[in-house]
Amino acid sequence: MKRPSVEKGEQGRQFRATDFRKREMIFQPKKKRLFTGVAAKSTKITKPKSHKRILKIYDTISIENLSHKIGVKKHTLISKAKKEGLLKEEELATYISADAATLIASLFDFEVRNLSKKTEDISELAFGDLKAEKQTKPPVVTVMGHVDHGKTTLLDYIRKTRVASGEAGGITQHIGAYSVSVSNSFVTFIDTPGHAAFTALRARGSQITDIAVIVVAADDGVQPQTVEAIHHAQNAKVPILVAINKVDLPDVDVEKIKKQMSEHNLVPEEWGGDTIFCSLSAKTGEGVKDLLEHIHLLAEMHELKANPLRSGMGVVIESRVQKGRGQVMTLLVQDGTLKTSQMILVGQHVGKIRQITNDIGQVISTAGPGQAIETSGFNEEVLAGDKFYAVKNEKEARKWLTELHQQEHTKQSNQALKASAEDLLLQAHAQQIKTFHIVLKTDVAGSAEAIKHSLEKINTDEVKSQIIHSGLGALNENDVLLAHAGSAIIFCFNVGVDPKASRLADQKEVVIQSYKIIYELLDVAEKQMAGLLDPEVKESFGGRAEVKQVFQISHLGAIAGCYVSKGKIAKNHFVRVMRDGKQIHEEAIHSLKHLKQSVKHVSEGQECGIGLQQYKDFQVGDLLEGFSKT
Ligand code: GDP
Repeated sequence: MKRPSVEKGEQGRQFRATDFRKREMIFQPKKKRLFTGVAAKSTKITKPKSHKRILKIYDTISIENLSHKIGVKKHTLISKAKKEGLLKEEELATYISADAATLIASLFDFEVRNLSKKTEDISELAFGDLKAEKQTKPPVVTVMGHVDHGKTTLLDYIRKTRVASGEAGGITQHIGAYSVSVSNSFVTFIDTPGHAAFTALRARGSQITDIAVIVVAADDGVQPQTVEAIHHAQNAKVPILVAINKVDLPDVDVEKIKKQMSEHNLVPEEWGGDTIFCSLSAKTGEGVKDLLEHIHLLAEMHELKANPLRSGMGVVIESRVQKGRGQVMTLLVQDGTLKTSQMILVGQHVGKIRQITNDIGQVISTAGPGQAIETSGFNEEVLAGDKFYAVKNEKEARKWLTELHQQEHTKQSNQALKASAEDLLLQAHAQQIKTFHIVLKTDVAGSAEAIKHSLEKINTDEVKSQIIHSGLGALNENDVLLAHAGSAIIFCFNVGVDPKASRLADQKEVVIQSYKIIYELLDVAEKQMAGLLDPEVKESFGGRAEVKQVFQISHLGAIAGCYVSKGKIAKNHFVRVMRDGKQIHEEAIHSLKHLKQSVKHVSEGQECGIGLQQYKDFQVGDLLEGFSKT
């Protein structure tokens, strides 16, 4: 399953359909010279001036596409870029960043404009001392594990003992997160146990957790949700700390739990691994202090830092309507400092923060990195997982939102993003994720093993399958969330699908495929992996013609009188009519004439008449791009 060679003859580089859909190029302004008619063969045609040209891209671009957009051969671009030290060997087969593309394009006098404006790129709205030295910030901890293993008891114990230890306030109210002091610094706990919240936030692109504590009850051992929790944390690349709970119970075997956890790549330090294990009882409190100390140490090791002097930003953890206070949001500040009366941008809304209270109900005026707070006064509907950003003023934020909308609109219409299996894969390809992520649910462990081994066999050098989670029994909502977060496809083998999971999958546009025969599953996986590399329609660029004059021919309608500025236009080509950098039509060529004769092709530097059957609205200055489809 090799990817077909990219170079194809003199002119015909191969492009994927998506390349064309995505491409948008501002061509040089229309030349002043008027079309002189097909007979004016001898007239000298001016070459395009070498003035600044602009390439519009979204985040990344392949070398093939970049060279095409610039209009040079791929090897010319590669050798020039390598000579300048702008391109490494390993980057040739991947997509390069907008920054790298900017530098390379400048060698050819092109300017790159990255049109992608994800919410993360909101940095242009940031204010305050953006260059200030970063300082250590409290770690944000999520507690996960199997049901009844003691997550809630542990979180309650930590919250209560903290208040009992005489800290100011003393009002225990539940706001979705709280901070406790450990060794003269703070640790923030997300007060919603379980990985549903963790994954839901992550699926919305918000990673809030710095450390995951996986609770496993000593009397029950590793259970399905323990494994799910481990996979969630591992997939999110979050450091894990294992809390073996309920050690107050008689006859518990801590070593056995360590062995079970080791099977999931969580090997205790004393066995040569790098995972911290703490034995504790959430009921009696034994070992909890030790757990907190270890969390603190782990956080120190990971050097979690933020800049408190810049404007605040973070994530919405909870949002609810409270009588008398309107909408109340729990926010986790991840960077910067948020202040009362500041304007914030959340999702699509801009509003003012009227009051900030901390996790123990005190009204405060500022909140720094790692701090969970409650705010009121912002009355737009927001969702858990939405990111928030303090903004200087409303006008600037609204302008940014409008631009974002426009860009999203273009992006969506350009890419026609549909969450069908193929498109999911194409999208994955565009982002250069050549891993085919799978969530696998099977009836028995034996079938999972068999499927895993067979999948390994269909891996190639260019695309690999990766099972990000596998489990036994019916597909549940957690599986779907996990698949959504990891852009995975779900394969069910001989198991049912929980109706709630099915609904959630519809909502999240996650693809579920069910099979009863292994080889059918593998067949589909193989095809989809091939699709990842090899979308069905391949296009080869032929040439480009500029419309210089439009003729009205009585029985044919409008004919575009063109000059072929690049490559070759062939009678059997399709053409794309481009105006002001945008595609306005695509159709197979109906008639191609040179000097009034029908011809099979017209070469660079020649003039020709191009007729289409359906499209007649040519305008002087339009560009017709000829290409073939295979
Ligand atoms: P969750 O579902 O993981 O949140 O578990 P809970 O915190 O609700 O605990 C489930 C049950 O285990 C409750 O009855 C708790 O009282 C009990 N439990 C929790 N931690 C301990 C512990 O350390 N020792 C003992 N003996 N029981 C515990």
